[in-house]
Amino acid sequence: MELRRFIRDIPDFPKPGIVFKDITPLLLDPAALNFAVESIAGYARPLEVDLVVAAEARGFILGAAVARELGVGFVPARKPGKLPAETVSAEYILEYGVDALEMHADALRDGARVLLHDDLLATGGTARALCELAEGAGAVVAGCAFLVELAFLGGREKLASYDVHTLIAYD
Ligand code: 5GP
Repeated sequence: MELRRFIRDIPDFPKPGIVFKDITPLLLDPAALNFAVESIAGYARPLEVDLVVAAEARGFILGAAVARELGVGFVPARKPGKLPAETVSAEYILEYGVDALEMHADALRDGARVLLHDDLLATGGTARALCELAEGAGAVVAGCAFLVELAFLGGREKLASYDVHTLIAYD
């Protein structure tokens, strides 16, 4: 299935000059949604992961569905201050400033094999923070799966030491 036609360009969002890739048309279509979840799960199945770790907020949508498809658990990585129990944190650089992702400190056991997921790979900063969180907790990053890759932003180079899989790439 050609998933690309379910991704919509929104010019000047969230600010002038940015063309935002809107994934909601794909989420609206049952066949496209199912295909996307099954494709990511198909990539991840041979990796024999114990858990899916995904980034707030759009990473949660397919991430949880992929975990269910694989029959494994799901770990949310959230913006600071959102998780109720003790957390570990990893910072990443934004165009202007710094942000961070947090995970519950007891979410990953030592040696757990994890699939990292987010909806979109742009500069790779968010994904690197996910890697740091997972590895800081003693887990092994078995693979990183994204629905969309903005290849011209070079995120893959930041993830050069990891196995990276994307369903739709824009050059
Ligand atoms: P990065 O950290 O790789 O530069 O940016 C990726 C993060 O920003 C992801 O969490 C993703 O949700 C968000 N993001 C950046 N640009 C877009 C976009 O055009 N569309 C969508 N859906 N998310 C984006």
